[in-house]
Formats: sequence, structure tokens, C-alpha cells
Amino acid sequence: MSDCLFCKIANHEIKSYKVYETKEFLAFMDIFPPTFNGKITMPTVLVIPKKHYGSNAFEDVPEKVYLKSFKVARKVAKAMQRALKPMRVCLMIEGTEINHFHIKLYAIYKEFYPNYLSSMKGPNNEATQASNKWLRETAKKIKEAMKELRKEKEL
Ligand SMILES: [Zn+2]
Repeated sequence: MSDCLFCKIANHEIKSYKVYETKEFLAFMDIFPPTFNGKITMPTVLVIPKKHYGSNAFEDVPEKVYLKSFKVARKVAKAMQRALKPMRVCLMIEGTEINHFHIKLYAIYKEFYPNYLSSMKGPNNEATQASNKWLRETAKKIKEAMKELRKEKEL
């Protein structure tokens, strides 16, 4: 798409700090990684297919491209682990700002976010365990949706 930032990066119309590139995929540094008090806390690499797909991973991206993207992400994550020595590399797909499918790889360091990674504590030590009722009802809704999707041949 002509007005898509990531398409422009993929076509080398806009400079990026590349870490990996193939004919179909590109991995490059996120120029807005997470920060805290002005310090970069999680170096972030973005993995994109060069071809444009919308950023709703489960709706917009063909399964083949989706799976290949994870293979690329795995390679890049291993290199990030070795180079940056984080506690580990995590990934997230949300794409709410740039509508071009991308996987975000974060190098995470525990010292920057104590308890952030533990859902039992939460970032402010105030996490609340979900009630059995909420867990049961939410799981039921998802299972019912799966049945519907199977009927519609979407799964
Ligand atoms: Zn695009």
C-alpha cells in the first residue's frame, strides 16, 4: 500500500536499522522502543512480511505467511538473546497503530520492571485473581465461538 509506513520501509523508501532480511521478510529496529525515565528498557525488533497485510494477525494474514513470520521471529529472537543478553525475548502482536502485520520482539530485563512479568503479582503488586465464575463463563464463551467457527469452516 502506497501510504503504509512499513511498506515504505520494506521497499527501502524509508531508512531502517535492519537486523535481518530475506526476499519476503524484514526485521528492523523499532525506533520507539519502550522507555522508562528516558532510558530504553526493552530493545525492540519488528518482523514484517514485505507484502502488505493488515495487522489483525488472526483475520488479515494468510496462515502460511503467519507461520513463516514466526520462523523469522524465532531466528531474530535467538540473535537478540545472544547479542543483548536479556532475561529473555518476548513477542507481541497487536498492531493497533501501524496497519501492516508485524511481530514485536522485546528484549526484557527484569530489573526494569519488577513483578511486571508475573501475572500473580502484577506491576504494582495488586493483581487480582479472576473469579471461578468469570473464568468458567469466559472459557465457555470462547468454546462456543470455536464450535461456531468450526461449523462455518473457519477453523
Ligand atoms: Zn504495508
